[in-house]
Amino acid sequence: MTAAPKHQKAKALKPNSKRPAKELCSECGLCDTHYIHYVKTACAFINQQIPTLETQTHGRSRDLDKEDDLYFGVHQQMMAARKIEPIPGAQWTGIVSTIAIEMLEQGLVEGVVCVQNTPEDRFTPMPIIARTREEILAAKVNKPTLSPNLSILEQIAESGLKKLLVIGVGCQIQALRAVEKELGLEQLYVLGTPCTDNVTRAGLQKFLETTSRSPETVVYYEFMQDFNVHFKHEDGSTELVPFFGLNTKELKDVFAPSCLSCFDYVNSLADLVVGYMGAPYGWQWIVVRNDRGQQMLDLVNNAIETQAVMSKGDRTAAVQQSIPAYDKAVTLPMWVAKIMGVIIDKIGPKGLEYARFSIDSHFTRNYLFTKRNYPEKLEQHVPEFAKKIVDRYKLPE
Ligand code: FAD
Ligand code: SF4
Repeated sequence: MTAAPKHQKAKALKPNSKRPAKELCSECGLCDTHYIHYVKTACAFINQQIPTLETQTHGRSRDLDKEDDLYFGVHQQMMAARKIEPIPGAQWTGIVSTIAIEMLEQGLVEGVVCVQNTPEDRFTPMPIIARTREEILAAKVNKPTLSPNLSILEQIAESGLKKLLVIGVGCQIQALRAVEKELGLEQLYVLGTPCTDNVTRAGLQKFLETTSRSPETVVYYEFMQDFNVHFKHEDGSTELVPFFGLNTKELKDVFAPSCLSCFDYVNSLADLVVGYMGAPYGWQWIVVRNDRGQQMLDLVNNAIETQAVMSKGDRTAAVQQSIPAYDKAVTLPMWVAKIMGVIIDKIGPKGLEYARFSIDSHFTRNYLFTKRNYPEKLEQHVPEFAKKIVDRYKLPE
């Protein structure tokens, strides 16, 4: 008889008990399982180890002297893409759900870790291992709340699954990569999305109530490349709220501390990343990090149209101005915000330059947050690539 792995003796934490990363915990789900045994090395907020895990996953870590590597991580290629026939109700055109379905139906994997919502609430996440097309489709659209995707890790061993696809955001994938070898899998594929400014369910309520004209009918929202938040409502209408008109004072505490100290916006450790911010409006942005990622993308070649990535404008002045504006919680009158949004949309950064704008403004904000609240963590927690980006700007004390 072989001895059980050491981690099986560890006990999962009870819901609502204090997490090892304390207030920085992103509720990734690892500590809801006996894999908590590895938390000190695996947790993205206790032990930042992106370069090591990049080498483990992609065979090399990003080259800090190459601009595209510095910003977007290790990759073989990037492109803009959209489904020829979008999936109704998906976050964008449904490329993520389509890849997951193909992987399952073509037998590359036996299950897909994804996140549905609870029957009671469309925004409360409910991670599952999907084994049918219908279960994957029921997980479409973002749950814009911290989601314990890794809480299903114990079910993997119990289910006997050997080939698995995991869909997830950066902090979940960092912890997953750190325990990957302990899962007993023969093949693991990781389909990631970029992620930023996530919230707890209570924080989401505050955001919706502060920002939308009808919080209870919002079915989805996104911070779009046209510098507006787009809220889609149950009746199919879209409400636009300019970024610059957000009630920054009220919203300063809404984003989870984990997300205010995160530097893995682009999901560095996924095999394939599907977002939107490096693509023209209406298109999705694809980053193929390694051969497994290419294999996944190839499955949907016939279902998508693609174009080369483009880059236009200069983000740097806008980023520099955003730093003190956020710091002092400046809120503009709505009419000024609307005019500013229109002007910036016309002359502002586009394509990859918009993605760099978003990365720069989040990294500078998060660097300041970490420096002020967790100075003892700053050196180890901020990866070298983020330090190099932040160093390009003048930050307040
Ligand atoms: P769909 O086919 O609708 O599938 C969505 C998938 O996301 C589902 O499989 C589901 O399992 C998974 N999912 C939903 N909620 C969560 C969650 N909370 N945690 C983990 N997985 C989840 N892209 C950018 O370019 N810039 C951003 O700033 C950005 N922020 C994001 C913030 C969050 C919280 C999330 C979840 C995604 C974010 N994205 C961002 C990605 C983008 O919004 C789309 O999810 C992505 O382009 C895929 O769209 P789709 O239509 O192909 O997805
Ligand atoms: Fe545990 Fe994940 Fe929270 Fe870290 S972020 S303490 S690994 S649940």
